[in-house]
Amino acid sequence: MSESIQNATFEQIGEIIRQHESFVILSHVRPDGDAIGSQLALGFALKAAGKKVRLINEDGLPENLAFLRGSYKIETPPAEPIDAEIAIALDTATKPRLGEKSLHAASNAKIWLNIDHHISNPRYGDLNLIDDISPATGQIIYELLLALHLPIPDETRDAIYVAVSTDTGSFQYPSTTARTYEMAADLIRRGLDVGEINSSTYDNHPFRRLELLRALLNTLERSADGLIAHWSLTEDVRTDLKLRPEDSEGLIDTIRSIEGVRVAAFFEELFDGKIRVSMRSKDIRFNVCQIAAEFGGGGHALAAGIRMTGPIEEAREKVLAAIQRAIVAHG
Ligand code: 5GP
Ligand code: MN
Repeated sequence: MSESIQNATFEQIGEIIRQHESFVILSHVRPDGDAIGSQLALGFALKAAGKKVRLINEDGLPENLAFLRGSYKIETPPAEPIDAEIAIALDTATKPRLGEKSLHAASNAKIWLNIDHHISNPRYGDLNLIDDISPATGQIIYELLLALHLPIPDETRDAIYVAVSTDTGSFQYPSTTARTYEMAADLIRRGLDVGEINSSTYDNHPFRRLELLRALLNTLERSADGLIAHWSLTEDVRTDLKLRPEDSEGLIDTIRSIEGVRVAAFFEELFDGKIRVSMRSKDIRFNVCQIAAEFGGGGHALAAGIRMTGPIEEAREKVLAAIQRAIVAHG
């Protein structure tokens, strides 16, 4: 099949699901709540519908999401390709972001589905369902399951909630719609325990995450005009604090929340010598996805990321200059 520019309909995806038995469901490297949540949500729905399903992630299950029902199903890629007819990529803006080992594991699949909410997604599937208005891939999965009358077991119900909650900053970002709250209400009516799931998601951080926050605060800088705030994490701090990749998840919101700040940036040295940049905008005039694209990254207008070459000082200088230019051009 050739790549398709047009979105597949729910019905077309339903056809594919009905006509096949075995599925491998994938999401991006360094998975977040929306990545793992979407995998579990769709995976357990298909399983409940009698399908054979494997859930693969390049980096496996992050510790902070291990509380999710059914999360034991998330595997790191096996060495040999999986016997699956259909591969489904979720929440993954570009195919390489699935990771090399995962791509190899899914290489027997004859049809690729690409379901995502990143505006920068180049539609690399045979069938694509890209809804950049949706606040999370988890919400697209919810709509798909309802439309196709697929089962919503407890694992799916909880995973959808966490996927959407984590990608909307607890239902706060402007991408959150009335439909998002209707969905949350429906999930609660289906038996979701709101207090427990929010407590597991947000009130259960390892101590080292606060030590990381302390270290980051020591590097906090703000541009002279107060519009940009940024902080950095170097490899020695990561080693000292025995950090795991997920420990920094969401911390950037702390500097995004500063009065007057329009764009927040987080620079992080990775073990492979690359630099990971995370950006957040509070102002639709400053599109951080466009800024990320200048360096080969992507994401959403208000939340985007880059993986670029170091050293960190150079990466920081280049990206901050690009943010400055965007502010001058569009401010
Ligand atoms: P985060 O800052 O939370 O890692 O990522 C913010 C958004 O940008 C997410 O939607 C994520 O998928 C996207 N993103 C992060 N890093 C990259 C990257 O290196 N390349 C692309 N294309 N998107 C990224
Ligand atoms: Mn997402």
